[in-house]
Amino acid sequence: MRLPQRRAGTLSRRCHRNYGTAVGSEASGKAPATPEGYAARMTARSASSPAPPAQPEPPTLAVELVGVLRARLLGWYEQAGQDFPWRTGANPYFALVAAVCAQQTQMSRVLPTFERWVAAFPTLAAAAEASNADALRTWERAGYPRRALAIRDAARICVAQHGGALPREAAALLALPGVGPFTAAIVRCFGYGEDAVAIDTNVVRLLGRLIGGALQPARESSARDIERWAHELLPPGDAARWNPAVMDFGGLVCAARPRCDGCVLADICAARPRFAAGELATPVRAQARFSGSDREWRGRLLLQLRTAAGPMRVGALVEAAGASDAEAPRVRALLRALCAEGMAWSRGGWCGLGER
Ligand code: SF4
Repeated sequence: MRLPQRRAGTLSRRCHRNYGTAVGSEASGKAPATPEGYAARMTARSASSPAPPAQPEPPTLAVELVGVLRARLLGWYEQAGQDFPWRTGANPYFALVAAVCAQQTQMSRVLPTFERWVAAFPTLAAAAEASNADALRTWERAGYPRRALAIRDAARICVAQHGGALPREAAALLALPGVGPFTAAIVRCFGYGEDAVAIDTNVVRLLGRLIGGALQPARESSARDIERWAHELLPPGDAARWNPAVMDFGGLVCAARPRCDGCVLADICAARPRFAAGELATPVRAQARFSGSDREWRGRLLLQLRTAAGPMRVGALVEAAGASDAEAPRVRALLRALCAEGMAWSRGGWCGLGER
């Protein structure tokens, strides 16, 4: 099946032109691995782009193409989409928790953290009451524990400044700790039924391939094009179905290794001929080494503090975390950093989780 694209050839060429104009993480060969990381890149690139025109730009996608893509992706979602509790609950707080949990985390690991968090803090008011230690104990080993304090801090701001509810407007959401464009869009879409466009790495990968013909859109595609296509494709009034459809399809079908055989979009996909010819998507970046990293040591310290029956001697903590004599000064410095962030306290040779 062939469908017309407005300026289809132009779209493809525009993508490739951006090899030489990349800035920030793209210029260094690194692509963002997270929803908010991608958003940050978009912001960085927008800052270097010409100011947008005052009038809305005309659509770049043909009406027929938009209609077919919407119908096929929503049809696929009905059959194969993932049914997460924050997608159907019309609960802005659940949407916030889920979106923050999803930052820098694979979707398969989001659900247990989400369920643990909302079981401990079922409402925004309950989250606002959480101590640092309570929030960190609930977060357990989900990684990047600043996110736990960010949700709690956002909840406190909502209680103090927004009448105990999450705001509905994007600008007010973006002013909350831990909330970037992706998280704000998820809250507005799932929580309030607003027509907000959520763009994560899965959406970038799918649209960059499907429309732009890129194999590795995180490197090859223009963030501006991705954003425009995402907005043009959004079916008015149906964001709560459309956003998860695109995210799930990008995660499950048009994955890092795309499953083109059997893909419901294969006959209209601009990248399909390249994959069929044997071209491969080069990996975006190697995962930073975790073993021996500061992140690993911070996790070890927090694990000991979370599971301790009470305050610990600092020396005992460093030893229990597994640090050798040579590693101890570095690990003590990391403990001081945790204290500065409110994740631990240390006084008179003793230390503990959270604040004292
Ligand atoms: S045909 Fe392949 S590259 Fe194109 S959308 Fe489907 S899975 Fe992705």
